[in-house]
Amino acid sequence: MSLYDRFKGFYVTLGEFFRPPTTVQYPHVKRRNPHRFRGLPVLVTDPETGEEKCTACGLCATACPNNVINMTSEPHATKGRHPVTYTIQAPRCLFCGLCVEACPVKAIQMSHHFELAATNRDDLLYDKERLLDLGRGIYDEIEQTSDGEWVEVTRYPDDEVTR
Ligand code: SF4
Ligand code: SF4
Repeated sequence: MSLYDRFKGFYVTLGEFFRPPTTVQYPHVKRRNPHRFRGLPVLVTDPETGEEKCTACGLCATACPNNVINMTSEPHATKGRHPVTYTIQAPRCLFCGLCVEACPVKAIQMSHHFELAATNRDDLLYDKERLLDLGRGIYDEIEQTSDGEWVEVTRYPDDEVTR
């Protein structure tokens, strides 16, 4: 290694020494997720009524390539049916988003929830209430792009834009 290469190495080290750190003190400090980040799929509620949007049609469970979603249902006065139980087995989820694409009423969305580690096997099974809790604050909004086109955008609780 020549003297020039050594100085070049020192120069890079010195440059990095004075640069602000790029790491954060996780879990005390958390970075904001990229907008299209895919965390656990969750159930969303109607922002107007607070009611679950799911009609228990079962299309998400059918579309899931890994049999992650299970549900039982019963008749519902206004929606036809609604889920009595709805579970997602988090460790088996591939985060592929096929369940979201299959849902005709946008009742399931990929969330920004990624902290899935647990010390108890039961905690890895997400039931309906946990999924609805994680889905609160996620909603779709119609927005105009700079080209004048109207598009549907999914908003997340950790987005800068809030309702
Ligand atoms: S993201 Fe993919 S693997 Fe996970 S529940 Fe949905 S369809 Fe199944
Ligand atoms: S989340 Fe959507 S696709 Fe799945 S059962 Fe509910 S309404 Fe049907």
